[in-house]
Amino acid sequence: MHEFDIVIVGGGLVGGSLACALTATGLRTAVVEAVAAGAPQHPSYDERVIALALGSRRIFEGIGLWSDIAAAAEPILRVHVSERGRPGCAHLDAANEGVSALGYVAPARAIGAAIMAHLASAPTVELLRPARLIGLHPTPARALARPQGMQLEVSVGGRSRLLQTRLVVAADGGDSAVRRRLGLPVIERAYGHDAVISTVTASAPRPGVAFERFTDSGPLALLPMTAGRWSVVWTTRAEATPAVLALDDAAFLARLQERFGQRLGTLTRPGRRSAYPLRLMLARELTRPRLVLIGNAAHTLHPVAGQGFNLGLRDVAELAEALALAQRLGHDPGGPGVLAQYRRQRRGDQHQVALLTDGLARLFVNPWGPVRLGRNLGLLGLDLLPGARHLLARRFMGLGGRLPRLARGLPLV
Ligand SMILES: Cc1cc2nc3c(=O)[nH]c(=O)nc-3n(C[C@H](O)[C@H](O)[C@H](O)COP(=O)(O)OP(=O)(O)OC[C@H]3O[C@@H](n4cnc5c(N)ncnc54)[C@H](O)[C@@H]3O)c2cc1C
Repeated sequence: MHEFDIVIVGGGLVGGSLACALTATGLRTAVVEAVAAGAPQHPSYDERVIALALGSRRIFEGIGLWSDIAAAAEPILRVHVSERGRPGCAHLDAANEGVSALGYVAPARAIGAAIMAHLASAPTVELLRPARLIGLHPTPARALARPQGMQLEVSVGGRSRLLQTRLVVAADGGDSAVRRRLGLPVIERAYGHDAVISTVTASAPRPGVAFERFTDSGPLALLPMTAGRWSVVWTTRAEATPAVLALDDAAFLARLQERFGQRLGTLTRPGRRSAYPLRLMLARELTRPRLVLIGNAAHTLHPVAGQGFNLGLRDVAELAEALALAQRLGHDPGGPGVLAQYRRQRRGDQHQVALLTDGLARLFVNPWGPVRLGRNLGLLGLDLLPGARHLLARRFMGLGGRLPRLARGLPLV
């Protein structure tokens, strides 16, 4: 039997970030990750390019990862929002918000490399991979109703191991095996859309400008990357996705250009394409005794406005803060106090961001005339009303509402 304070199931963007944050607390941590080290395809550290909010940069600084990510991160100085086929657009500007950047754009692979380098030299973290979860059971003390810990049976590289822990953190993504195994209920809706991602080069680049363009098939984002490349996130109706993936490069560029327009001149040199089915999923319960859900295991969102990972990183910051405080005070890291703090502090943010992304994703594909007019006026109004623009910018920067300490640039405790 191997004993840990915390076992994180899922060592992707969110679970890996939590493991890094916990190195400062001294808590003995295991990460159970399904995918082997160096595997060519990783479900989290893949071709995606992530728009990181300013608040996420602060969290990464606080847990010692930003210096390794910075070289691969391009700052976002301006966000340009428009609707295809309609006049009017809105802008968010770093200068207006008094910050040097609203956020950054970094490849998921670069974030993954920084996480793994950090964990490789962390004496309190054991990384078990490739590992498969076989069993998960509460371990009750005989006289008490509350479980005193959790026992996990995992197969690591084909060998079975028993892990005993005081808290299990499910960070195993939208199809969380932990969440399913324990029967935690969810609210779920498929959008019937996919996100096709790729990269391109532009003949008239506008450094630091991120574009979000709403079209009748869903939003289309072009995000500035280092080395003059642009990340493309193109929402397609699910039935049209195979045809978009099968287009030859010239036809793909022509379709993309027709959807996006000429704001960046001629688009060339498309990278590899891949598609992700889109859905909304919110767990109805965030915790059970000795168990907590974070990241995509708790909430899977439409990628419009690039919010999902940023939200998951705020889960990380809040949970790490609660655990660091418990550790300092000698409290049980899997006890009801930690779980209650996490639930109390994270529910509102998760619901607000889910509502915002769901609303944007659905509002802009609604073809009904009055809705189209209303949203166009909304875009114009946003550009004219500094108060509304400021609120939206704070949300985009990951600085809206109550924030965990790391997102405010403070140490964990
Ligand atoms: C096209 C697209 C673009 C996006 N762009 C942005 C963006 O710009 N900004 C942003 O903030 N967010 C963005 N997101 C969202 C972001 O990708 C997710 O929020 C993020 O990947 C969630 O990380 P996670 O670690 O919770 O889950 P995942 O990334 O799904 O990772 C889960 C991990 O758990 C492991 N795992 C799974 N099952 C098991 C198991 N049974 N046992 C052990 N390990 C397991 C997996 O191998 C993986 O490592 C985008 C999403 C998409 C689809």
